[in-house]
This record gives sequence, structure tokens and C-alpha cells, in this order.
Amino acid sequence: MLDLPPPPWRTRFAPAPTGYLHLGHVVNAIYVWGLARAFGGRVLLRVEDHDHIRSRPQYEAALLDDLDWLGFEPAAGTTADFRRGPPPRSPSPLRQSDNGERYAAALDRLDRAGLVYPCTCTRRQIAERVGSPERGEELRYPGTCRHRNVDPATTAVRRVFLERREIRFTDLALGEQVQVPAEQCGDLVARDREGNWSYQLAVVVDDFEQGVDVVIRGADLLDSTGRQIQLAALLGRAEPPRFLHHPLILRPDGFKLSKSEGDTGVGELRDAGWSRERVLGEAAARVGLLDAPRPLAVDELAALFRR
Ligand code: GLU
Repeated sequence: MLDLPPPPWRTRFAPAPTGYLHLGHVVNAIYVWGLARAFGGRVLLRVEDHDHIRSRPQYEAALLDDLDWLGFEPAAGTTADFRRGPPPRSPSPLRQSDNGERYAAALDRLDRAGLVYPCTCTRRQIAERVGSPERGEELRYPGTCRHRNVDPATTAVRRVFLERREIRFTDLALGEQVQVPAEQCGDLVARDREGNWSYQLAVVVDDFEQGVDVVIRGADLLDSTGRQIQLAALLGRAEPPRFLHHPLILRPDGFKLSKSEGDTGVGELRDAGWSRERVLGEAAARVGLLDAPRPLAVDELAALFRR
């Protein structure tokens, strides 16, 4: 039995509108809605368009259409709410590009606690100092600008100081985890040189303010979890959410499948005449939730997790 909070707990489906919905997203939606229906959770929809250069309105429109077509209905922040234009305040619907004031307020709080500094280091300069990361490793920021008194007017980049702490959590699928964010990535970027709020800042603020207490997402984000727990604590969140990181659709060599390597778009499958049940069954089978592909109805998802 999963160690979930008492119902109704809150989770979210939080796609970035930087491309079309593909089978990897469908796997995530199956976990999010399946677990919520099986164990008394509510699903919020959040459009994660914090990156205003890569996000596009047509991707958002397409992903809302695909969600409707697949039959995934959020409990709050429905696809209709998003189509109605700029949404009201939290908790939901929440589109990150409408939420800049909240991220600015969070950064301000951290700044007043003496935890924020401007940074002018480029990726190349960081790599020159600490060495280029191996494949699959992260570039760790060594804190170069921490005490350099950089004029804040010269750069939009803001980093948040992360003291060295061991973060322990029990992943609901993967078990005990120990992460040391100060050694994995170093001080976190909260805002980048283009003025985008970073994924890490936005997601922590949103999960806190929307009362999300269970985060269900792919295992590619496991390394982000320790830093999100540490940042949430700095922002005053008394208890972090629980996390479940699920399997991804992988290439035969074990690496994550990307769109260009053939992860299939939901729109392409629709155009090719696939039914929604066939798409769901294909996605579920690719991560072992079904032994073999078969048509799977949205109403059957809870049963996949109650076994
Ligand atoms: N927006 C992220 C993505 O599309 C998901 C972030 C999360 O679940 O924390 O990959």
C-alpha cells in the first residue's frame, strides 16, 4: 500500500507547452489520474510555460485538445478554464506565465533572508572551473559569484545559496533516497539571463501555493527532488510534498526517448486513426503497466494501481 496523505490529497499534471503531447506525457497522465482515482487524490492542471522563449500558445492549445480527447479531466483548472483566457489566482488553473508576481515575491523573500545573489558566469566559464560534466552528470556551480558583489543591474541572473545539506526522502516508487543538492548542482538559478523564472523556483512556489502534497512524475526528474525539498523549506514550507517517480519509456540502450528519436506524438496517432483506448494501452504497455498493448479505457486506469 502506498504511503499517501489522507484523501483528498492533491497532485498535478504539469506539462510544458514547448512541444506536442507525446506518449511519455500519456504515461505520466496515466500515473497521475490512475493513482488519484485509485486512492482519493485530486488532479490539478498546471501549464508550465515559465520558459517564455520555448513555450508557444499553439502547443498549449494542442495539449488541451489532446487531454480532452484522451479523456483526462482535471478536478480544478479544467481545459475549459484555460481556454477562457487569463485565469484567476491560485490554486488553479495556473499558467506559470501569469504567475510572475508570485515568483518575484518568493525571490524577494529569499533575498531578504540574504540567500540571493546576481551571477554573471556563463556555462563555459563554470565548465572551465569545475570541468565538463560526464554524460548524465550535471554541471555543478562552484559559487564563484557568491562574494563578488556583482552589480545587480548588469545581469538578470539570480542564484539562491544552498548550504550543504543531506536531503532524505522516501520515494513512493523507488524507496529511500539521499541527495546533496550543494554537491549535485550547487547554488540554484532562480532567474536566467533572459529573465525567465527557472523551473526549480516556479515548480516549488506553485506546488507550495497550490497545496500539492503528492508529486507524481517521471524518473528523469528524480535528481531535482532534493533541491526542490531544500528550496521549499527555505520558502517556509513546513512539510514537503511526497514524491513518486515512475518509469519512463526508454530506448533499448536505457536512455530517455526524445521526440526526435521517435517518441510518438498523440496528434500523429490521432491522425493515423488510433482510438484513445489504443493510445492509452500502448503507453501503459511501454512502461510495464500492462503485459502487452490492448485497448485501455480511462475508467480502467484506477484498477492498474489497485492490484
Ligand atoms: N513541466 C515538467 C515537464 O513537462 C514537469 C515538471 C514536474 O512534474 O515537476 O517535464
